[in-house]
Amino acid sequence: MSELIESRLTTANPVDPSRVVEAIRSVAGEHAGLHEPEFAGNEWNYVRDTIDTGWVSSAGSYVDRFEEMLAERIGVARVVATANGTAALHLALLMAGVAPGDEVLTPALTFVATANAVAYCGAVPHFVDVSEQTLGMDPQRLALHLDRIGERVDGQLVNRNTGRPMRAVLPMHTFGHPVDLDPLIDVCDRFGIVLVEDAAESIGSYYKDRHTGGIGRVGALSFNGNKTVTTGGGGAVITNDGPLGARAKHLSTQAKVPHRWEYIHDAVGFNYRLPNLNAALGCAQLEQLDGFLGDKRRLAERYAEAFASIPGVRFFVEPPFARSNYWLNAILLDEPDLAQRDAVLSATNDAGLMTRPLWRLMHRLTMYADAPRDSLAVSEALEARLVSIPSSARLGR
Ligand SMILES: *Cc1c(COP(=O)(O)O)cnc(C)c1O
Repeated sequence: MSELIESRLTTANPVDPSRVVEAIRSVAGEHAGLHEPEFAGNEWNYVRDTIDTGWVSSAGSYVDRFEEMLAERIGVARVVATANGTAALHLALLMAGVAPGDEVLTPALTFVATANAVAYCGAVPHFVDVSEQTLGMDPQRLALHLDRIGERVDGQLVNRNTGRPMRAVLPMHTFGHPVDLDPLIDVCDRFGIVLVEDAAESIGSYYKDRHTGGIGRVGALSFNGNKTVTTGGGGAVITNDGPLGARAKHLSTQAKVPHRWEYIHDAVGFNYRLPNLNAALGCAQLEQLDGFLGDKRRLAERYAEAFASIPGVRFFVEPPFARSNYWLNAILLDEPDLAQRDAVLSATNDAGLMTRPLWRLMHRLTMYADAPRDSLAVSEALEARLVSIPSSARLGR
């Protein structure tokens, strides 16, 4: 951070907001939203089929088909479709053994659902910093932090400052760019912590040759309306652990014991299943995933070119070990400067080009202000540098 402040004082490199407007316009056209869904395939046929047959709700063949299509695409043993990504994350954390009074290590730079899912378990999010290369959890800094604050009590890693067990590590693949997972897995192995992936933004993103979300013990996807693939609202738990996946399915369906007519439930379950109506939309969307990914990659390439010659700002590109879905494109100001960032935000939005800042960092939200945390210097600098720019797949056509 001191280095960043230094460079800001000595080599001020201001960005001209009108040049940012020009660059975005040259790629995205006159008006563009941030991320709009596209329904150019079998959506209408499949959704109509659920209505024609009456199977719109909590049972029906599209749910099974959607789960199978996803499992094959991602290369995992089990997929459990859920009502939304937040519900999937909640189940994923429960499957990882997160219990009341635990801590879960997770980035402060994320959408609020990541931290909320931890809170739903009665656990406490413990915020760690991100790497500038991935915008996601920094494995080296995590290891240093755990060396400093971790102690082993009866085989369990405990936060020596709070006395709470540190049960899981929950990275998030920001904007679809994969976190550096191999070193993160090493850290988890060394400290005996479970890895859970928030892959809500990263369907179609690969770390080396493996699909994100299927690499940790369990992961979660989202199919919200603004994600790469949408079911209207929806999500999925994904895992290679068959029995764990079966347990997640059971809990997501009110923990009902199968029986021809009796209502018997053997746990406090959840009504987290994805309706058949939404799954129908999802099947049609998944058929088009490769097309969406190709369009988004082309869009990112065009942005990279358009921003190459603009001083004071650069287009964020995927890390070398990853193939990103480029869910949400972003530019980074050379220097952390909220006034400049806001000048870019207002010029672009005034011009009809929708742009957004990063999410307010989790430790700045009232409900997480007292949560334990490491230094968040990189996250805080990124907050004052990053602007998300229009990213709909159709813009890359
Ligand atoms: C979208 C998203 C979620 C949750 O998704 P919903 O389907 O909206 O509940 C969780 N984490 C991150 C990082 C997300 O972007």
